[in-house]
Amino acid sequence: MFAKNKLVLSRTHSENQAEQENFCYTFLYRQRYAHTCRTIPSCLFKCSFNIVIASHLITSIRKWTQEHALLRYSCTFIIGWSIVFLVLVLAVWRSHYSTIDRDKKQMRANALKDVASLSRAYAQYLTRTIEQIDQVSMHVKYDWEHSRHSLRLEEQRSQGLFIAPQFELVAILDAKGKPVTSTIPIEKWQDTTLRGQFFYHQNNNSSAMQIGFPAVINSSGKLVIQFTRRLETADETFDGIVVISVEPSYFSSFYDSQSLGKNGLIAILASDGAIGASRLGDVIPFGGGNVFTQNIQFKTTVGSDEFSGPSTFVDQHSRILGWQSVDAFSLTAVVGLDEQELFGNYQAIWAQAKMTAVTTTIALFLFGSIAAFISTRLAWRKYQAKQVRDTYRLATEATDEGFYMMNAIRDAHGKIIDFQVVDCNVRGALFFGLNREELIGMKMSSLQGEIYFTKLMQIYSRAMETGFYEDEYELSELSPLNMAWARRRLTRSGSGLAVAIQDISERKEAERELQRLATKDVLTGLYNRHWLTEYLPNAIQRAKTSQQMLALLFIDLDGFKNVNDSQGHIAGDQLLKSVASRLLSVLRPSDNVVRLGGDEFLVVLEPVERDSQSARVAERIGDTLQQPFWWEGQKHQIGASIGISIYPVDGDTTEILLKNADIAMYSVKASGKGHYNFFKPELYEKLRVRVDMERALEQAIEEDQFVLFYQPRVNALTGKMTSMEALIRWIRPDYGLVPPVEFIPLAESNGMILRLGEIVMAKACAQIAAWQAASLPVVPVSINVSAKQFSAGSLPKKLAECLQSCGIDSTLLEVEITESAMMGEDNAILADLRDIRELGVKLLVDDFGTGYSSLSQLQRLDMDILKIDRVFTNELTKSKEGEIFFKAIVSMAHALDMTVVAEGVETQEQVDALRQLNCDEIQGYFISRPVSADYVPDLMLKQFLLPLAVNS
Ligand code: C2E
Ligand code: CA
Ligand code: CA
Repeated sequence: MFAKNKLVLSRTHSENQAEQENFCYTFLYRQRYAHTCRTIPSCLFKCSFNIVIASHLITSIRKWTQEHALLRYSCTFIIGWSIVFLVLVLAVWRSHYSTIDRDKKQMRANALKDVASLSRAYAQYLTRTIEQIDQVSMHVKYDWEHSRHSLRLEEQRSQGLFIAPQFELVAILDAKGKPVTSTIPIEKWQDTTLRGQFFYHQNNNSSAMQIGFPAVINSSGKLVIQFTRRLETADETFDGIVVISVEPSYFSSFYDSQSLGKNGLIAILASDGAIGASRLGDVIPFGGGNVFTQNIQFKTTVGSDEFSGPSTFVDQHSRILGWQSVDAFSLTAVVGLDEQELFGNYQAIWAQAKMTAVTTTIALFLFGSIAAFISTRLAWRKYQAKQVRDTYRLATEATDEGFYMMNAIRDAHGKIIDFQVVDCNVRGALFFGLNREELIGMKMSSLQGEIYFTKLMQIYSRAMETGFYEDEYELSELSPLNMAWARRRLTRSGSGLAVAIQDISERKEAERELQRLATKDVLTGLYNRHWLTEYLPNAIQRAKTSQQMLALLFIDLDGFKNVNDSQGHIAGDQLLKSVASRLLSVLRPSDNVVRLGGDEFLVVLEPVERDSQSARVAERIGDTLQQPFWWEGQKHQIGASIGISIYPVDGDTTEILLKNADIAMYSVKASGKGHYNFFKPELYEKLRVRVDMERALEQAIEEDQFVLFYQPRVNALTGKMTSMEALIRWIRPDYGLVPPVEFIPLAESNGMILRLGEIVMAKACAQIAAWQAASLPVVPVSINVSAKQFSAGSLPKKLAECLQSCGIDSTLLEVEITESAMMGEDNAILADLRDIRELGVKLLVDDFGTGYSSLSQLQRLDMDILKIDRVFTNELTKSKEGEIFFKAIVSMAHALDMTVVAEGVETQEQVDALRQLNCDEIQGYFISRPVSADYVPDLMLKQFLLPLAVNS
């Protein structure tokens, strides 16, 4: 159960945030619902339900917007471009419309002005025309009244009066309305239209001319306008009327298509709005010519305005009318211009403009769509690039790399002149000691110093050309980056570079340290053997190229081991350091010193010109190392054995030159140390023998090819065997018996003497035990112990163990140490000697006389027996000096309570002389040669080995 819960929990955590929220809301909803059912009123439930739904919606929107991040991103562009498009379209349309509207207004204003002036002109025209008719009527009236009704218009017409075409007729009606005279024959004339006007004149004594409405004359069937005037008798009683009929077209002859167009309008309106005459373009309507659909009346006496076609004009054309009242005749002159004609041009312009606007709109739409498309694409690319950048930055945020997006800045010729940081991660900014926001937007030129900037620009530009650049570099002090070493990777990315920088200072430091450790000797700070193997081949190559010589000085310290063994490793280390600094002090800077290991050094001199030059250096080295060293107030003297090999004479490879320098050094060691030797081929042969010998000796130790020979030591007087000296022999296969002198020095120099010493010790003890076991009258056996065995320490302990393991008494073993081995102030040797004596083992001084020890020294060391070297025994019988010398030693030894042994006694004469000198014991071929263990029992049983003495 618990596990299940856990599973659900972990699953919930693994969902994304939105889903988690969804889950929570659903959960909340269910909870609330369940609860509400039981306790909360339903309105409350609805409220909470709404909250849930709203939250749900918000979450969904958030989720959607997250998922459609691009849409959100490019929305700006799409909306932006749409707005730009709309604004442009509106501007185009508005511009067109306003231009057209302005033109239209202008045209209209002009038209209004035009019709106003035309109506004025028409009014003047009418006035003039009607005044003419008025004059004519007055003239006829006058003539009629003064001719006492004798005027005959028929005559006047025939005489050429009233023949103007506009005068349809001129007539006079008498008081009863009967025509009395007329320009046309009266009998033909019949007119009922005049009745109204006639009555007017009859009942009205106004002498003013009356104008009738257009009417058709019965007799001719023509449309005319009747002008009438009252005739009076002398007493002013009504006497009839003068009638002048004029065709309406006469009034509309004002019409000029030039100024009024094809559909222009002229009309004469009576004061009550009735149409006096009218014309609509070329058409003069019949019966008064009503061009208007309704009775039209103007509110002003003068004016102009626009009138809608369908409601005003019979042809339904809208017009602009101008009017002007002709007050004298209670008429209004009307002039109209057809809007269709007037604005016909304008319509074409308007259509053209509309076309242009539509075209522009389409073009703009296309342009807008393309622009929006390109913008969206660009936005998408930008979005993708940003996504990549963000992702990369986030990814790199976790690493220890600094990451930068750099944009290349180019000049007018396209040459890159700078880079600008467009993005970076936090670590990247930190490298510059800035935060991200501070670094973004900065130019490389402002981040770096001028010199460093130039250098960086070369690298960055190269990366832009090749696409990739990578290196590890040590930062100069000029760099603003907070690190010592950096690894940088530059990758071209679009119009810039993606730069990743890693701080590798620690790694480089570690590498450097490793390198140092790899090539330098830790103790002395000199180069080591590893460095030499790298360096020397190159040095040889250089010498070869420049045809110069190269010298290797192989230095081995003499006596270093003593200091190290006696004073301890700290002193030894200190001495090696001093040696290193002394070596450096006597060399040129171009020369190199290597510590090969232990107390071996190598100096590489390059170039050298002559042998003498390297010899001089070797001398200088020898001299400086000969100077005493001081350690804790104690003086230490060492020296150096130096072997020199020269390129090209002694070899042309690292191995050969090194080996030959080593051989040369060895030859110095072998010949007494403390100087230098140049390599010679014959040295090599010597060394080869030595190496062979060493190898054979090694094998001999492993295979136990050694035996002990025993040489008795006897009492000088009695000849009784007092002791036997164990002398080692090497039974070398294929060689036979090899004497110690041929291998002991080698074993001493290479340390094998330690193992040999132990072999001798074990063999001697085992042999004593065996003789004892054989019930032989055993005498003590002395073994020869090398100084090296003392230096190695624990000699007393080993002796004790050996005695114990073989079960023999310590008095049966004696130890011989050469005089020279005991010398020096070595406290360790003194302590060992004391311990050995304390075991009960006697101590013998071997080869006395060859060293420089004094007897007092021997006394202090508490030695038991003094063996005088064979050289002095030999001298004893040959010269007086020999005898004196021998005698002095014997007496002094006796004074020190030491037993004196003469070595190398070969003759009776020597035995006699020794007896004379009170020498205690003798040893030599005269008594017995060293013999193998097999012969010893005989000697032991014989006991007395000097028959002469016995005899005497
Ligand atoms: P040493 O200790 O002085 O040994 C005496 C040497 O003189 C022996 O040489 C011996 O054979 C030789 N000798 C003895 N009597 C006469 C004589 O009358 N005339 C002549 N000409 N020589 C005589 P050997 O055995 O060849 O030993 C040489 C040296 O080797 C020894 O000199 C000793 O220093 C060393 N040696 C021998 N065995 C050992 C050993 O087991 N351990 C060590 N450390 N050194 C040894
Ligand atoms: Ca000896
Ligand atoms: Ca000796």
